[in-house]
Amino acid sequence: MSNRWLPKWKIVEIEVNNKPFEVCYDETLKIYACPLCSPSCKSGGIPDYSSYFFHTEDLIRHINAHKYNLWTKKRPIEFEEEDEGEENNEED
Ligand SMILES: [Zn+2]
Repeated sequence: MSNRWLPKWKIVEIEVNNKPFEVCYDETLKIYACPLCSPSCKSGGIPDYSSYFFHTEDLIRHINAHKYNLWTKKRPIEFEEEDEGEENNEED
């Protein structure tokens, strides 16, 4: 009877840009955790917050984003929702 999720992180090696990269993997939930966001997962700790991924592809993309420090950069400009309603202001 436990509502708490206790991840059992296991260190697995994936390939990022043709280089081995250690990440955390939980066999129970089958998710990967980003070791850059939560280095504690590698030592068996439970990260307060982390980025979890179901697919290594997504994780690799995320790790690459760390490398390029996309975090610190400005977010791309969000598209403004353009109201293209028909405005028929017929002014006679
Ligand atoms: Zn991360």
